[in-house]
Amino acid sequence: MSTTEAKRTNNGEIEDLDVIVVGAGFAGLYLLDRLRNMGMAVQVFEAGGGLGGVWYWNCYPGARVDSPGPIYQYSRDDVWRNWQFSELYPSRQELRDYFRHVDEKLGLSRDIRFNRRVNEAQFDPAHSHWIVRSGDGSIASARYLVLCTGLSAKPYIPDLPGLSDFAGERHHTALWPQRGVDIAGKRVGVIGTGASGVQVAQEAAGAAAHLTVFQRTPNLALPMRQKKLDDNTIRRMKEKYPEMFDRRTKTFAGFDYDVLAKSALEVSDDERQAIFERLWEIGGFAPWIGSFSDILLNEEANRAAYKFWRDKTRARINDPAVAEILAPTEPVHPFGVKRPSLEQHFFEIFNQRNVSLVDLRTAPIERVTRGGVKTSAGEHDLDVLVLATGFDAVTGGLTSIDIRGTQGETLKEKWAKGVRAQLGMAVAGFPNLLFVYGPQSPNAFCNGPTCAEVQGDWIARLLDHLRQRNYTWVEATVPAEEAWRAQVLALADATLFPRADSWYFGANIPGKPREMLAFTGGLPAYIAKCRECAEYGYDGFVIS
Ligand SMILES: Cc1cc2nc3c(=O)[nH]c(=O)nc-3n(C[C@H](O)[C@H](O)[C@H](O)COP(=O)(O)OP(=O)(O)OC[C@H]3O[C@@H](n4cnc5c(N)ncnc54)[C@H](O)[C@@H]3O)c2cc1C
Repeated sequence: MSTTEAKRTNNGEIEDLDVIVVGAGFAGLYLLDRLRNMGMAVQVFEAGGGLGGVWYWNCYPGARVDSPGPIYQYSRDDVWRNWQFSELYPSRQELRDYFRHVDEKLGLSRDIRFNRRVNEAQFDPAHSHWIVRSGDGSIASARYLVLCTGLSAKPYIPDLPGLSDFAGERHHTALWPQRGVDIAGKRVGVIGTGASGVQVAQEAAGAAAHLTVFQRTPNLALPMRQKKLDDNTIRRMKEKYPEMFDRRTKTFAGFDYDVLAKSALEVSDDERQAIFERLWEIGGFAPWIGSFSDILLNEEANRAAYKFWRDKTRARINDPAVAEILAPTEPVHPFGVKRPSLEQHFFEIFNQRNVSLVDLRTAPIERVTRGGVKTSAGEHDLDVLVLATGFDAVTGGLTSIDIRGTQGETLKEKWAKGVRAQLGMAVAGFPNLLFVYGPQSPNAFCNGPTCAEVQGDWIARLLDHLRQRNYTWVEATVPAEEAWRAQVLALADATLFPRADSWYFGANIPGKPREMLAFTGGLPAYIAKCRECAEYGYDGFVIS
């Protein structure tokens, strides 16, 4: 739609802004504050009815963060100083409270349009701006469009025969009713054992009359080691916050710890075992991204990590047949190449009489019926069906918007041939469009708020650079995005990640091109590339 057409359909008026940011999660809110403080006219358009991004939508029982709360927040001291999480791994409710605190501190809501889902965006080269049309009928224009739609904006619901026949309550975890769902005393089925499946199963096992967990792939989940955080602990932690926030941009995954500087194969068996034990006691992601440097690169090193995880896990499960499904003797894929979840008592729930496990590898789902789920081995009667089936991750949120650039092609059409995204933030043919936490950035391998700040700062500086020089156009070049793509794919090829059908590769979505969607070179290398690009006058971009 051209600017003239847009004005015609909107009584001659469209709101004209410097920047439209889409999404009110960590990334969108960070940019709103940064750009507003630079004096730009910015608004955030948010599909949901509240702040927090994924923490608004994912209100299923047990929803909780897998990054420790202290590091899963903004690094600004005027925001963290008066805030404390009550648990090391805060619940979704506490994350919602945190976003309310941020809003009170920074006054963000006044520039956010809630319940506004962006459906279309068309670049108008004559005016060098974007025309943005939303589901509420509004049309607005802005010089720059910054998509902060996150990794998980498009829930994936598998095409199971009979799904709509189910007579009970049926919900995807990311579309869970905000009013909540009463699962107490009900027969609950959970399809999927990714992060959300593990969390909801732990919760349902304690409340439901019966819980049936349908597992396709074992989740090599790690112990969360949840802790209550009292005032004293928080006070001591806060003394180290500045150091911690500084460190999180210097580590592989944006946390305050890093992979060890040694191979699992260069140490004795005893030392390896001792290190695995130490990391296991720390818990969280330490046994994954705080472990030996070659765990995700070398088959033999990986095998040692798997064996350690398997033996620890099997010891917690009473029935050897159930243990073999949850923690098989032979790994179904290498350790850590699918995102391990953090669990509190996930494996113990299968020792309860009211919990059963269905192995979908040996008994696939044939159909959903009025009364439950029928697999090739029998029928499971259910009152509530939970679809913990994940997302069309990383690209789904971006490609669900009808975004048209200068070549007449939509972003979805362009990426159907494989993702191209210079530094994971911009695309040739789509001028003045930028995104955060997008494909080919560290996304899934970076703590969310760290990535929001790193990429948010880079984008804010770019927009400031353009404004200072009266430029109105910035666009990635084709050679630059091709070179970046080649680098992202080559990095992933050198790892064990391609050995699993994971959402990192889009492999959970039928028909999606199978390619690594994240930069796996680590955050410091990514930051260096972004800095270098800016220092060389935004090398790889055309600016005019
Ligand atoms: C259940 C769950 C647990 C997670 N746990 C962790 C964790 O422990 N550690 C970690 O680092 N990461 C975690 N993540 C990843 C998480 O996405 C990031 O931590 C972080 O929330 C990313 O922030 P964001 O602002 O980029 O995106 P999001 O939080 O995803 O926010 C995106 C926002 O964009 C909005 N939006 C999308 N499309 C449109 C549209 N077309 N129009 C208008 N609005 C739109 C959405 O409604 C949403 O509010 C988790 C994700 C999920 C789903």
